[in-house]
Amino acid sequence: MKQCVLDKICAHKDDEIYWRLDNSREYSTKSMYRWLERNLAGGHYKWIWGTKIPLKIQIFQWQLFQNSILTRDNMRKRHWHGDPKCSFCDELESAQHLFFRCSVAKIVWRTVGAVFGTSYIPKTIWQIFSWLYAFLRGLCEIYIVSLAAVCWSIWLARNRATFEKKWIKTPFEIAFTTCAFIEYWAGMQKPAMAHNVKKGAELLKESATQMLRLCGPPRTEASEQADEEEVWDEW
Ligand SMILES: [Zn+2]
Repeated sequence: MKQCVLDKICAHKDDEIYWRLDNSREYSTKSMYRWLERNLAGGHYKWIWGTKIPLKIQIFQWQLFQNSILTRDNMRKRHWHGDPKCSFCDELESAQHLFFRCSVAKIVWRTVGAVFGTSYIPKTIWQIFSWLYAFLRGLCEIYIVSLAAVCWSIWLARNRATFEKKWIKTPFEIAFTTCAFIEYWAGMQKPAMAHNVKKGAELLKESATQMLRLCGPPRTEASEQADEEEVWDEW
C-alpha cells in the first residue's frame, strides 16, 4: 500500500485540475447547484430547501442563516479593505444591520407589520418566525417566502447602491420589489397556498402605497439625501 502511494506521488506526471462534480470535468453552475442541493437538502434547514422559491434564493436564505452572506463585515474577515459602512447609512454593515437594524430595513419591516396591524418589528432573523407565527398561524409555508422576498429585495437594492451607485429614493421602493417577488413566487406554490401568497402580496402593496402617501412622494435631488436619512432615522 505504502509503495503504491509512493509510486503515485513520485510519478513524474503533472498535476491535473478538473471539476469533479460534472462528467464533462468542466465547471458548470448547474452541477454546483446539484451538489449543494444533494448535500444540503438532507441535512438541516429543510424548511428552506422545501420552500417553493428559486434555488438561488434558497441558497441566499441558507447563507443568511449561516451568516455567510458577503456583507462588508464578512468581506473584511477575508482581508478586504474597502469601506465597511452600510450603503444606506453610516453604520457598519453586517447582515444583522442590513436586514434588520438599518433604518431602511426597519421601514420595510414596518410596512410588512402594518399589514398585520402591528408596529412591532422583528430584530433578528430568528425572531421572524415567532413574529410571523403570531400573525400567520398555520401558514408556515409563507414564512420563508416572505422572509426571502424582503431580504432578497434589500440585498438587490444594496447591491445596486454599492456597485452601480444607484440609490433608492425611498425605502418603499424595496417594499414594492418585495411585493413583486411574492407575487411572482406565488406561481410556484400549490394552488391553495398560491392564493394566500398572492393575497399577501396585494395587502403589502396596499400597505406600502398608503405609507408612501403618508410619508410624501420620494425626493429626487441628491442634495436632499441627508434630510432623507434623518427622516428614516425617526422610524
Ligand atoms: Zn444601514
